[in-house]
Amino acid sequence: MTTQSPPLARHISVHSTEQISTHLQRIRFKSEDFTGYAKCDGGAHIKLFFPNPDQQAPDLPFRNSLGKITWPNGKKPITRTYTVRDFDEELQLLVIDFVRHEDFGIAADWAKHASPGDLLGLAGPGGPARFKIDAEYWIFVGDLSAIPMIAASLEQLPKDAHGEVWIEIEDDSDQIHLNKPEHIKLHWCNSTHELNNNIRHSLQNLDWKNKDISVSLAGENSTVVELRKILIQNFQLPKSNLYAVPYWKQGHNEEAYHEERHQVMDAIE
Ligand SMILES: Cc1cc2nc3c(=O)[nH]c(=O)nc-3n(C[C@H](O)[C@H](O)[C@H](O)COP(=O)(O)OP(=O)(O)OC[C@H]3O[C@@H](n4cnc5c(N)ncnc54)[C@H](O)[C@@H]3O)c2cc1C
Repeated sequence: MTTQSPPLARHISVHSTEQISTHLQRIRFKSEDFTGYAKCDGGAHIKLFFPNPDQQAPDLPFRNSLGKITWPNGKKPITRTYTVRDFDEELQLLVIDFVRHEDFGIAADWAKHASPGDLLGLAGPGGPARFKIDAEYWIFVGDLSAIPMIAASLEQLPKDAHGEVWIEIEDDSDQIHLNKPEHIKLHWCNSTHELNNNIRHSLQNLDWKNKDISVSLAGENSTVVELRKILIQNFQLPKSNLYAVPYWKQGHNEEAYHEERHQVMDAIE
């Protein structure tokens, strides 16, 4: 039997859209080809390609005769990184939760106005592991943009997992239900200040020497960078136990921030 390899990219179309909280829009997508997707991809990184104003369907990349990834007319469309919140294998639906953030952004604006049949391009799933599956204790820290990664990861932890989740939100109405193991404590915080203070206190009480602790950080650049520094410098957390990805940067759109994110992720503290 041959296994089909996934295409480089495919079109996906809106199946349904639902505002699940004040700042989160859940969109389910269908596609003629979800080869390479499985239920266990929850939390994986994906790339979304957006149509130009004069297009219905965005351009998709292809490999030229030399195997190089190429774009029609040589122009890459507006591209954003998102997370597989869930993949429903039975119904063949991909679920993505978009933050309805206030500053104008192509992706957030598209999600606010999306209706059934609207088309995007999709590449992935990919990206690094979001947590260490064989750890003894798990910590997740993030903001609204990290909720899909955190929610999907919690659903994959062992049932008897112990740990803590810290999520920063501005509005209590964004406290959505997360399916989590019983012994994972969930803390919603209303400011970066509250989040940082509470986490620091909690981190100091952990047995870093004798416990295998997995930490996952995602969200706004400054919080991720600051906490990563503390984890590496103060608690000597090995890189293999750390997922630290700044998902966005205040005041910068993705075009302006993309390169910097990769430098931040490559930086050794
Ligand atoms: C690996 C990875 C996974 C991600 N997964 C998700 C996900 O599942 N869901 C999700 O919503 N986002 C996710 N993001 C973040 C998302 O890619 C960015 O928020 C992106 O900037 C949104 O694009 P945009 O076109 O809406 O805004 P942009 O055009 O990029 O930015 C416009 C303005 O909006 C601000 N802005 C951008 N994002 C936010 C935000 N979240 N809150 C407040 N202000 C913001 C920017 O600072 C800028 O001022 C992920 C990012 C990465 C790297």
